[in-house]
Amino acid sequence: MMVDSNGSPNCKDDGIMTIRTRFAPSPTGYLHIGGVRTALFNWLLARRHGGQFILRIDDTDTERNRAEALQPILDGFRWLGIDWDEGPEVGGPVGPYFQSQRQQTYLDAAMRLLQTGWVYPDYLTREQLDAEKKAADAAKKPYLHRGPHRNTPAEECVRLYQAQPTTLRFKIPTDRVVVLHDLICGTCEQRADLIGDPVILRADGRALYNFASVVDDVLMGITHVIRAREHLSNTYTQVLIFEALGAKLPLFAHVPVVNEPKSKKKLSKRDMAKFVTPEIRAKLHAIGWTDEQIAQRDDLNPATVAFYREMGYLPAGLVNYLGRLGWSLDDKSEFIPLEQMIAHFSLERVNDSPASFDPDKLYWLAGEYMRLLPLPEKVAGCLPFLQRAGLVSEPLDEATRAKVERIVVACGERIKLFSDILIYGSPFLRAEPVYDSKAVEKRLKKPGAVELLRQFLPVLAATEPFDAPTLDAALHQFCTDRGIKPAELVHPVRVATTGTEVGIGLFDALAILGKPEVVRRIEKCLHLLATSETA
Ligand code: GLU
Repeated sequence: MMVDSNGSPNCKDDGIMTIRTRFAPSPTGYLHIGGVRTALFNWLLARRHGGQFILRIDDTDTERNRAEALQPILDGFRWLGIDWDEGPEVGGPVGPYFQSQRQQTYLDAAMRLLQTGWVYPDYLTREQLDAEKKAADAAKKPYLHRGPHRNTPAEECVRLYQAQPTTLRFKIPTDRVVVLHDLICGTCEQRADLIGDPVILRADGRALYNFASVVDDVLMGITHVIRAREHLSNTYTQVLIFEALGAKLPLFAHVPVVNEPKSKKKLSKRDMAKFVTPEIRAKLHAIGWTDEQIAQRDDLNPATVAFYREMGYLPAGLVNYLGRLGWSLDDKSEFIPLEQMIAHFSLERVNDSPASFDPDKLYWLAGEYMRLLPLPEKVAGCLPFLQRAGLVSEPLDEATRAKVERIVVACGERIKLFSDILIYGSPFLRAEPVYDSKAVEKRLKKPGAVELLRQFLPVLAATEPFDAPTLDAALHQFCTDRGIKPAELVHPVRVATTGTEVGIGLFDALAILGKPEVVRRIEKCLHLLATSETA
């Protein structure tokens, strides 16, 4: 006999019922970006069809989970703009939405299955089970536990359990092949006789994942179960439990894994720590994180949403990137704003093969969204980073605010993340430039550079108005008169006034610093060079 999962829940498209999807995270203390991608697909499908997206907390493993371990998950979703129609903090008609608060529901469902002969008590001890497994291993047979009461009549099982509650196991109907029509993986099959009888309720009454998940999916009216590929193997057991409960099957869609950049290894929080490159670490330092704090906050790595928030990514860029990670609108679009994603999302266009995480593409997309951000919002987003780094004071005075705005304008598309302001803005906001020794060596200690600077200084002092176009014309005229290339002067002036070789256009930089400060910095730099203190 075949159990076929080709159920088709009624959805709004066929005019009968609303699509209901869910994401069921365990409270782990951080929001994994692979999980966000799965949640996003659930959310997009619900939003596309005017349905509901439910957040259900998979905290049956109560020893490991703490309330504070949930907060980063909720905060992460809120920051990304992925809202939930039912779940923690918002409630809903079929709650509670914490599995730890639904033990009675699971117990009731288990009792029904006990009475109907789908479930039996198993009194075997851990030692007996271990011995069984050892014997199976020795005989090179797969270990498939079937308890002694598997064929005990239902009334007797109920009597036994009432007299002495114990572990309850689900009786896998071994004469079947479970056929699954997965919306992403296609048709998959599993012989049921190769599935051991799973525990559904522990002796202490706590439900296990496969059982709690099905009971909740039934009672919460979930129409589409969209989750990580690693749960495909659980789904065969779950299908049998749905059937035993007499429930209609939801549709299943198992999304492929997200791999590390340029690798076939699953992206994990532990392993992603190595992607905190010296550059990223330097940025985190600039933002105000010490090495000690970074080590304590082990979620500050590119596998978690918190990392992107700390780094000043625009959430819209991250959502676009994760939505596009394994799903496509067509064969070319990368920039797909949320509204467009909602309007076009379908599970048919989710790729069946693993997706590879590409931080460069994410950075680029983040920049695309930043480019579109109105100036006041960009400035408002950059300011907290400058404040945390101690580069502007709190409360902010109007002159500093205006200066930051000028810097942001001059940065143009260089700012892809709010924290990028630290790279470009620091030379203007620090009292003194921090001289990069390599740049000094290359640009200022080059023969003739100091002399050129010395000669150009009075030109700068005489330039009026001290704005970018006038400064540009003055420098070019100076170079033409001497028959030198502008680069020969541009680099020394830049390093002398900002300390670094990278940054916004030189003439914008000089204009932002203002004449007195430019003259002061060059004079001081020349003095330091003369006394050899700069490098
Ligand atoms: N807590 C499980 C997970 O995060 C839920 C799986 C499911 O969606 O059924 O993998």
